[in-house]
Amino acid sequence: MKSALTLLIVTFFLKFAFAQNPVTRCATEVLPQQFEVLLEQWKNKNTEKLGGGTVQSVFNIPVIVHIIHNNEPVNTVNATTGGNLNAAQILDQINILNKDFNGLNADTNLIPNVFKPLHGKFQINFCLAVVNPTGGILAEPGIDRINRNTSGWTAPPYSTTYVTNTIKPASIWDPNRYFNIWVCAMSGGILGYATFPNPGSSGLQGLSAPFGTTTTDGVVILNTAFGSIGTAVTNAPYHKGRTATHEVGHWIGLRHIWGDGTCASDFCNDTPPAQQANYNCPTFPYKTGVCTGNTTGEMTMNFMDYTNDLCMYMFTKDQKVRAQLIMTNSPMRASLITSTVCNMPSTQNEIGILYISNPSYSQSIPCAPSISPSVVLKNFAANTLSTATFSYNINGINTQTFAWIGALAPNSSVSVNMPSVAVPGLGQHIYNVGVYAPNGGTDPYMINNFSNQYFTMTSGNLNVSINSASICVGSSATLIANGASQYTWNTGAQSPSIIVSPTTTTQYSVLVFSNGCQASANTTVSVFNYPVALSCNSPSICSGSFATLNASGANSYSWSSGQNGAQIVINPSVSGTYTLFGTNGGVCTSSVSVFVYVEALPQISVSGPSLICIDETHTITAQGAQQYSWNAIPGGSTYIISPTSPGTISILGSSNLGCTSTIDYSFEMSPCTDIFKTALSDIRIYPNPVIDQLKIESLNLNSIELYSIQGQNLRPPMVYFNTLSVLDLQSLPKGIYLLKLKQDQKNIFFRIIKD
Ligand SMILES: [Zn+2]
Repeated sequence: MKSALTLLIVTFFLKFAFAQNPVTRCATEVLPQQFEVLLEQWKNKNTEKLGGGTVQSVFNIPVIVHIIHNNEPVNTVNATTGGNLNAAQILDQINILNKDFNGLNADTNLIPNVFKPLHGKFQINFCLAVVNPTGGILAEPGIDRINRNTSGWTAPPYSTTYVTNTIKPASIWDPNRYFNIWVCAMSGGILGYATFPNPGSSGLQGLSAPFGTTTTDGVVILNTAFGSIGTAVTNAPYHKGRTATHEVGHWIGLRHIWGDGTCASDFCNDTPPAQQANYNCPTFPYKTGVCTGNTTGEMTMNFMDYTNDLCMYMFTKDQKVRAQLIMTNSPMRASLITSTVCNMPSTQNEIGILYISNPSYSQSIPCAPSISPSVVLKNFAANTLSTATFSYNINGINTQTFAWIGALAPNSSVSVNMPSVAVPGLGQHIYNVGVYAPNGGTDPYMINNFSNQYFTMTSGNLNVSINSASICVGSSATLIANGASQYTWNTGAQSPSIIVSPTTTTQYSVLVFSNGCQASANTTVSVFNYPVALSCNSPSICSGSFATLNASGANSYSWSSGQNGAQIVINPSVSGTYTLFGTNGGVCTSSVSVFVYVEALPQISVSGPSLICIDETHTITAQGAQQYSWNAIPGGSTYIISPTSPGTISILGSSNLGCTSTIDYSFEMSPCTDIFKTALSDIRIYPNPVIDQLKIESLNLNSIELYSIQGQNLRPPMVYFNTLSVLDLQSLPKGIYLLKLKQDQKNIFFRIIKD
């Protein structure tokens, strides 16, 4: 959004504005607004070129990346000390720049529809310098590794002041021929910062730092925010190489989209006004209308905002025009157009290895007999490359060659699948590869023809395990190991499985080999004895009672009743045999039989008169038990009563085992006025006269018969209750009857009156 050029020069530094944030997204200072006056001059001068399409079609920008490390070995990636980032990570960042600046990044599909027509593609190509400032060929294109110790610099991390005042002047390559990028550990949580394009001898007042100079021009990127692999992987949300995209945007002359003020201008018409920096990952549309003139929401996905790496994915067309204007006119930008440091010195055949892509640095590879590496081959020369010869080995031993055939255009690269190569075993190894004889000729610059990669072969999938076993003395166990091609047991056996018969608990181990890797495993065979002293009590109980069975002599117990445990409680109704199973070690089981005697309860009966005449004495007799108690008083089988009132006597009968039953004996009292008492004192007949039931009590009667006066034997219904006989005379007519009793073979007759 364009605005008048009368705004005051903004002088604060954003790194102070967001000092409380642990990460400073960008420490680039603010571009003076006076710069826009200069830009207007350049624009007027180039209007015809820009409008007429005669402007530089593609800007080629040679890049040199200065890796500031702390004497770490090449390829070491160490976020704390600075690290010596590998070539793959550096190339990854250059690829990200080329995609982002040319609209080739995969996440352009996320651009909101309203912004899609504004998407700017810069036509800028970042290329890797292949020669150094003195014309020497770089061993690694685009990479300048600097050990800070040999440069005499302090230990990392570095402040921006130290980088600007000490590191940059000592390490910068001619900024008129190289785009300088420094990668190092920085203090203060700073992800990166850039210098703006030098205005040259414009003669304008008010133009001052932070323009790039011959000792400072370029961008500085935190070593963990460079590229999207290696050290960057764990640095989310700044892990996709967009810190460099943002800083290179400044280096080309772009401002932050909020114009570094509240709803200020970035001097691009197609970036909607934005209130301030946006962080994290705002959902579009965001802050629509917060700034006057904003009708679409803010363009938080512009690379020149402060959002997360995954949430910025576009430049605009006006940003492109601005960049092209600056690339064409700023002295240290325009001169890059004619820089030739990305080109090999004139030669027909020049080949090099950019890096080894497989295995990756320090990769851990599960146990395998061989690896199948891949290398990235580059043609630096003028001829299309059709043949070359690779040589390779592991650990410098047994070098082999491989004839490559292809069609690699000048200045292009290709991934080459190398022959698989045997790995000598577990541990760290180094894969060495070189390339020779481009198109059958001699390579003039051998410095970039070699590469190597460390990797580690792990035991990986070679996991061996053995089953454990528990056996009884005299038995055997089968131990099985799987997954290898060769087995050696501590018993000396060399088969996948073995059968062992130890007499005591014993440890076994196996050492296995497969594909040159090895693994081992241990196991234990536990040996147990059968329970030899298994025993249990044999209880006797009364019917209806509980019995407790207590087992001993084993580790665990189960019972034929289905119960488990050393002690169980049972409630049997009859005597019977139980089986106790005792087990040691879960495998060795013995059993014993247990008899449980169940005694039936005594069946007690009692005899005695149910009607007792006053002043009578009677003997009550009980049967069916061994001991008796009468109303809780111990006694014999007989009991003498002489009651004066009706009552009940509770008789408890006990067996020899102590099983008991009770029975009640009840009696009524009578004055006996209607009782016919016989001369024989043990015979009583009552009532007489009788209405229905005639009762006859006697201890010993042979027979009872009833006759009519006419002598007819009437045989009335008769029921016996021990010593009591009851005749039912209800159906007989009233009158006189004759009762005939026989006792001791003598007949006794009584007259009975039926009422
Ligand atoms: Zn910035």
